[in-house]
Amino acid sequence: MDQDIPAVTGFGNCTGCAVCLLTCPVWRRTHDVLMTNCGRTRSLQAGAVPEDLEASAEACLFCGACAAVCPSGVDTLSLTAALRAALSSKRKAAERRRCETSFAYAGRTVLLPGPDLRADALLLEKLALLLGAAVPPGDELPDLAADLDAGLRAAPEELRAATAAADGASAFVAAEGFALRHLRKWFPALPSKGLGEALLGSCRGGLRHGDLYVVDARAFNSDRGRLVRFYDAMRQETGCTLSISLQRAAIPAGPARGTPSADSKAQARWVLDHFRPRRIVVEAPSELGLYRMVAGVPVLHLGELA
Ligand code: SF4
Ligand code: SF4
Repeated sequence: MDQDIPAVTGFGNCTGCAVCLLTCPVWRRTHDVLMTNCGRTRSLQAGAVPEDLEASAEACLFCGACAAVCPSGVDTLSLTAALRAALSSKRKAAERRRCETSFAYAGRTVLLPGPDLRADALLLEKLALLLGAAVPPGDELPDLAADLDAGLRAAPEELRAATAAADGASAFVAAEGFALRHLRKWFPALPSKGLGEALLGSCRGGLRHGDLYVVDARAFNSDRGRLVRFYDAMRQETGCTLSISLQRAAIPAGPARGTPSADSKAQARWVLDHFRPRRIVVEAPSELGLYRMVAGVPVLHLGELA
C-alpha cells in the first residue's frame, strides 16, 4: 500500500446550501447534518480534522446522490474518499490480492460481477449470456475500486497490473455501480456501463405499469446528466416507476455490496412506502436480496425479464 495519503481538499466551494441533504439517505435516517456531506464540508471549513469526521465518513454509502445535485460542483465522493484515506493511514493497512491474471478476452465485453452476483451462479450465467460478455475469474478491479472507496490506496504497481490485465477488453459492464467512476478513470478509452444500462436493451420489454424499477444509485449518479434522459425515455416507454427523487438523483437502499444492515432494510421499506409498487425490478445484485427481505410483492432482477 502506498502510504502517501492525499490531502483532504475540495471543500472550499461548499456554500452550506444543504441541497445535498435532500437526497442523502444518511440524512433521511439520522437527521444529523454532521453525518452528511454538507456537515463534513462545513466542518472542514471550520478547521475540523479527519479524526473528527470518522463516523460521518464511514456512514456514507458512496451513492453519489449529493454530487449529482450539488449546485457548487463539490466533488463529494472524492472528498469522502480522501477522508477515509486519511483515516485508514492510521489503521493497519489491509492486504489485497494482486491482480495477477490476465483477462485475455481481447475484443470482448467484460462483465465484472463483484461478490453478490458471483454468489448467484445461475443469474451470473444468464447475464453473461445476455450481454455476450466474458467474466474474469477474480474480482480484482471491483475489489480495487471498493478498497479505494474504503480509503485504502492502491500501490502504483497494482494499478499498472490491473490495467495490463484488462488489456484488450472492448468494454466493461460493472454489476457494482460504485466501480464505474474508477473504471472510467483507469480506462478512459473504453465504454463502461452499469448493469442496468447494459441490460435494458434486451430486457425493457418485460417492464410494465405498476413496476417499481430500482435504479442502481451508484451507477446512475456517476453519470446522471446523460442517464437521466436515458431512464426517462425508458419510463415513458414502459410505464414503470423509477426510484428517482424529485431532485432527479437515484435513491439508494442497500450497501454497495455485502449483507444488508438494519438501516438498509429501513431505507428499503421507506422506498416501498413511498412508491407502493405491485412488483419490483432491481438492477444492483446487492439490492436484490434486500428487497426480497422487506417487500411483500415479487422482486426480480432486471435480467430475469429477458
Ligand atoms: S456540498 Fe454542495 S449541495 Fe452540499 S451544502 Fe455544500 S454546496 Fe450545498
Ligand atoms: S454519497 Fe450518498 S450517502 Fe454519502 S453523503 Fe452523498 S448522498 Fe449521502
